[in-house]
Amino acid sequence: MRIDLHTHSTASDGTLPPGQVMTRAAEAKLDIIALTDHDTTAGWEPAIQALPPGLTFVPGAELSCYWQSGGGPRISLHLLAYLFDPSHPGLSAELARVCASRETRGEQMVKRLVTDDVPISWAQVKRLAAGAPIGRPHIGAALIAAGVVTDMEAAFGSQWLGERYRIEKADIEVFTALKLVREAGGVTVFAHPKATKRGRTVPDEAIGALADAGLTGIEADHADHTAGVRAHVRQLADRYGLVPIGSSDFHGDHKKLGIGDNATTTFADYQRLIAGATGRTPVTG
Ligand code: AMP
Ligand code: ZN
Ligand code: FE
Ligand code: FE
Repeated sequence: MRIDLHTHSTASDGTLPPGQVMTRAAEAKLDIIALTDHDTTAGWEPAIQALPPGLTFVPGAELSCYWQSGGGPRISLHLLAYLFDPSHPGLSAELARVCASRETRGEQMVKRLVTDDVPISWAQVKRLAAGAPIGRPHIGAALIAAGVVTDMEAAFGSQWLGERYRIEKADIEVFTALKLVREAGGVTVFAHPKATKRGRTVPDEAIGALADAGLTGIEADHADHTAGVRAHVRQLADRYGLVPIGSSDFHGDHKKLGIGDNATTTFADYQRLIAGATGRTPVTG
């Protein structure tokens, strides 16, 4: 069994349309594929319409969240959510709120770049996003097109979208997100919990508190984790009773990993992960 539970399409900041992500998944000999676009479920229907025979589709999303301890800084984290009811009022309202914030923060970031005479425009970024919620990779694509950086990795450097021109968006408080996804019948996985190159990460003890609040799984095998970190995350999974997964976090051409790379989730762990989900069922083509 080959299972990849973390992928993106043009419904957010990936470069392939949802249907083509499904075709690629079949070509990569995957048996089970989840689509987890950032803060949106817009890719589910087109993915299901294009589902190749024999491939099982798990509807999901990657929720932009933050964790905060006392008066400390907000630490951003990504929560993969699966098999929830997308019409749940509280959850859909939070997703709409984050997408609206992506729009205003994207426009502000572009404004700052334009003020510094970087030759891109908001209209261009909107065109590149083609209706999807705006992500930094859309702005990165504009920077590449303008020739000011050579690739997406450079666009995320500290002089550009990684730090200097980065503006926070209005993410979902993580315990609220866990509660809403549970209410909507879904299950959750903490994505790339130790991806330190993206910024500060949540301390180990807090992962125990997330588990107590209903978190189901944790992503161990991810491109942003070294071998040592993967082993440590698997220990955390054991300690807190979380289901370990491994996935590609496929985004299309602007990232190095192909679909199915790192897809180390076992069928037994997949079954454990989705056992409590009641909001939707996986669809087999
Ligand atoms: P945003 O959600 O708008 O803050 O943008 C974050 C997205 O940018 C994530 O989905 C990542 O996949 C992508 N990203 C973050 N860091 C990098 C990087 N160093 N190179 C390429 N893409 C990145
Ligand atoms: Zn992304
Ligand atoms: Fe992520
Ligand atoms: Fe992702």
